[in-house]
Amino acid sequence: MGRADNTGRDAPSTGAPEKTVVDQPPPEPDYPRYRVEPGSGTVLAGVDPGQTEHYRKKKEVLKELEAQRRRIGDLQERLYAENEQGLLVVLQAMDTGGKDGTIKHVFGGINPQGCRVSSFKAPNPEEANHDFLWRYHKSAPARGRIGIFNRSHYEDVLVVRVKGLVEESVWRERYGLINEFERNLSRSGITVLKFFLHISRDEQKRRLESRLADPDKRWKFSKNDIKERAFWDDYQAAFEDAINECSTGHAPWYVVPANKKWYRNLVVARTIADTLEAMDPRFPPAEQGLENVTIPD
Ligand code: AMP
Ligand code: MG
Repeated sequence: MGRADNTGRDAPSTGAPEKTVVDQPPPEPDYPRYRVEPGSGTVLAGVDPGQTEHYRKKKEVLKELEAQRRRIGDLQERLYAENEQGLLVVLQAMDTGGKDGTIKHVFGGINPQGCRVSSFKAPNPEEANHDFLWRYHKSAPARGRIGIFNRSHYEDVLVVRVKGLVEESVWRERYGLINEFERNLSRSGITVLKFFLHISRDEQKRRLESRLADPDKRWKFSKNDIKERAFWDDYQAAFEDAINECSTGHAPWYVVPANKKWYRNLVVARTIADTLEAMDPRFPPAEQGLENVTIPD
């Protein structure tokens, strides 16, 4: 039997997973460096989107990225078999920030049966007639699964705020509602991890230019991206508030330097692998008495 809906047991705190990793400590360098500690007053302008630790080239991280992907794949299998806990990975970024590329490169090796990507656009009329969390809750992962949100409930305090789609009193109240929503998921065994893929304004310009110049990438280009770019500072302010208001022990935000795609992939993969390891999913015990079982011809 699965767990009751509210187990009264928190999903393991993702605030300090490195402390619960016993057999295989997370690889150096330290895993929590980009985690936003609650109350830390993180300033995005103070985080260099171009940093790459000691790495200088993509070539230097390829093996490690592969190792992290393998860890995620192995742990995902355990998570699925155990069927007690789940993981929700939220990806947010400015346009061209690399949400799609991250999904492709970080989750490329895992069993599609155990994970689901949900992408969120502007709400359709049915969604718009519900409370803002409705469509996200419906897509939240079940126990045993990994859910990936490509955009998320955070849009309702980002684009919605920047574009003035609701009054300030409405979006302000949403920080608390989002924290309660994520707390509820966590109380039901679903760990929530949130990544802000942090690129610079110049890097966005380069990426938009390259989309425009390459016929195979042009389909990704929208004139609307240029309109949105004009609101760069407003979006940064909205992200900063969302990250500071909603980084909690049970659902931390990570600000990931994302100008270098290979480094971004490494940080996200390593963080997910370390978190899954800290959740410690286990294969369930086999049925009793299998020693004497033979398979009939
Ligand atoms: P893309 O991810 O490039 O396909 O674009 C999706 C668009 O949907 C973006 O412009 C988002 O800002 C927009 N979007 C996503 N969620 C919401 C929301 N809750 N309200 C309004 N617009 C949204
Ligand atoms: Mg777009």
